[in-house]
Amino acid sequence: MPYTTEFVEPEILFTHRGLPVYKTYRNDEFGEGARNFWFTLDPLHGTDSGCEFDVRDLPTWQPPEHPPFLCGAMTDQERIDREAAWKRYHADEIEQNAIIAAITQALDHGDLAPHHCSVAWCNALVPKHNLGPDNRCPLCREGACTPWAPPPPGPPQPRERFTTQISCSVEASSETDATNRLAAAIRSAIPDVCFLPPDAQEFASTPTS
Ligand SMILES: [Zn+2]
Repeated sequence: MPYTTEFVEPEILFTHRGLPVYKTYRNDEFGEGARNFWFTLDPLHGTDSGCEFDVRDLPTWQPPEHPPFLCGAMTDQERIDREAAWKRYHADEIEQNAIIAAITQALDHGDLAPHHCSVAWCNALVPKHNLGPDNRCPLCREGACTPWAPPPPGPPQPRERFTTQISCSVEASSETDATNRLAAAIRSAIPDVCFLPPDAQEFASTPTS
């Protein structure tokens, strides 16, 4: 039986200065639910990709004060009060507001500043937080990552989506060079093209250097 794994765009937590911050999912499975504290700037690279970050690791993270937990000895009245306090805590989205505040400040202060991988087939968007001193891409471990900013918003365009697989031969000094040239040619023809990662099931081979 043939089967297919469909790519699903992750949900956006919020957008800051034109840059969406995406949720990540347990085991990278949409159906398993979003993780509470882990997010990514790259919709194609979430859980365990090297693009995701834990908001609690950011220097800007301030854990919100929460009501006392519903455990241990307590009177009936204390239980009622605590349950009501937790209800208000969730209704007011206190934790989510703290998460958004910490990410917003980290984006502004540079700790989460988006960096773009130079390798065409990788094309990852990595937060500064995940880069070492040499800015090497943590995904492909080949590209140098450079600061990137989202383009200013233009007039709304109708969008179409198609997925295709190309078989061809390119003359180049190495397989990576060939892949980069092919990716550059495709990008010049389709500027907003989106490449799937090389380990996606749709692609049989992984480029190597
Ligand atoms: Zn890369």
